[in-house]
Amino acid sequence: MSRSEHTVSAGSERAPVPPVAAVAGAPVAGAPSEPVDMNAVVGRDDILLVTLDTLRYDVAVELAAAGRIPNLARHLPGGMWEERHAPGSFTYASHQAIFAGFLPTPARPGPHPRLFAARFAGSESTASRTFVHDTADIVGGLAARGYHTACVGGVGFFNKQAPLGSVLPDLFAESHWEPSFGVASPESFEAQVACAEGIVARQPAGRRLFLFVNVAALHQPNWFHSPGATSDAGDTRATHAAALEYVDRHIGRLFAAMTARRRCFAIVCSDHGTAYGEDGHVGHRIGHPVVWTVPYSHFFLPGPAGTPPAATEPPEAP
Ligand SMILES: [Zn+2]
Repeated sequence: MSRSEHTVSAGSERAPVPPVAAVAGAPVAGAPSEPVDMNAVVGRDDILLVTLDTLRYDVAVELAAAGRIPNLARHLPGGMWEERHAPGSFTYASHQAIFAGFLPTPARPGPHPRLFAARFAGSESTASRTFVHDTADIVGGLAARGYHTACVGGVGFFNKQAPLGSVLPDLFAESHWEPSFGVASPESFEAQVACAEGIVARQPAGRRLFLFVNVAALHQPNWFHSPGATSDAGDTRATHAAALEYVDRHIGRLFAAMTARRRCFAIVCSDHGTAYGEDGHVGHRIGHPVVWTVPYSHFFLPGPAGTPPAATEPPEAP
């Protein structure tokens, strides 16, 4: 397995970090997301799914509250992330579930109707506003509705360098990964955004686009996102936060690209968190609150001014 996924469960030499609930000033819970009729979205809007890989809920909430991620926070309902539970504790498990329609689950009693669901009898989270597809995954489901599907990979499970790193990218009609997109690159997100801009620019005007971006910047190593930090000092909760600030500085370009043609429905979330010494744990792929608690949001990004109302646009050819 690549360097992108690792767990060291004990023996950290770094100072213990207080548990999430003990972090001073950490808000307890975010607001629920607005209900969305996905059957009015699919076929009309472009769709963007961004997984901020490994982003911790507590760090995301603190930075939003402190005004440190203004470009993300301005799109979050009420400026707040929603608290959710990850469907997996590491990238592969979580993304397999996400692509099967199981986005992170609201961290409160359900039922919670899903945005996407594969058709199967007995699903209790499929509602009238759920986009139901006959494929096993949402990527194929959107392709069947005429979407071009594109993946911009980040962590090792998207690097296409071995069969396991190709499983997830191969769901898409088009996929990209370069070392500059990966966890060891200090400019990873800028390189990913440039790739995304190219994908959008190549689309015919009438073609709907489903773009998925797996952002690698938060994932360890991330120490280089903190000014003055050194590799000897290593990754910490603070450098994790600095990595989110780095992403925020550039995410406006991604949103601008995705709204150059029409309105975009965006889902931005983490796939799992990660530990920096809590209870002796460093990393993820463990059942710990800092791993299973993740930030989530979905929202609409308006299209260009003067765009005709989406509902009146002619249907596109698949
Ligand atoms: Zn991950």
